[in-house]
Amino acid sequence: MECNDPKCPIHGNLKTHGNVIEGVVISDKGKKSVIVQRDYTIYLKKYERHLRRRSKVHAYSPECLGVKVGDTVRIEGTRKLSKMKAFVVTGIIKKAESAA
Ligand SMILES: [Zn+2]
Repeated sequence: MECNDPKCPIHGNLKTHGNVIEGVVISDKGKKSVIVQRDYTIYLKKYERHLRRRSKVHAYSPECLGVKVGDTVRIEGTRKLSKMKAFVVTGIIKKAESAA
C-alpha cells in the first residue's frame, strides 16, 4: 500500500537518524500516532544488580503500515513532529497474534 503522506518515512520525505528502538504498540487510538512500550534493563554497579524498566514512546504511525495494538514495531528517531513525538514507526517486526 502506498500513501501520499509527506511524513511517511517510506513514501514521504521524512528522514530518520540514529536511535532505532523496538517495542510493542500499546495504544493506536490517536490518528496516525501510537504509543510504543519497550522493556529494558539497566545495571546498577553500586548494588550489582539489574533493574527492569519500562518506557513509553509516542511515535508517528504512517497509515500505509496499518499498525495495530499488540504489534511489535521498529521505531526510529526523527525530527520533532509534535509536542510528544520525535519518533516514527518504520516497520512492523511482528504482527499481533489476534490479527489473523
Ligand atoms: Zn507510506
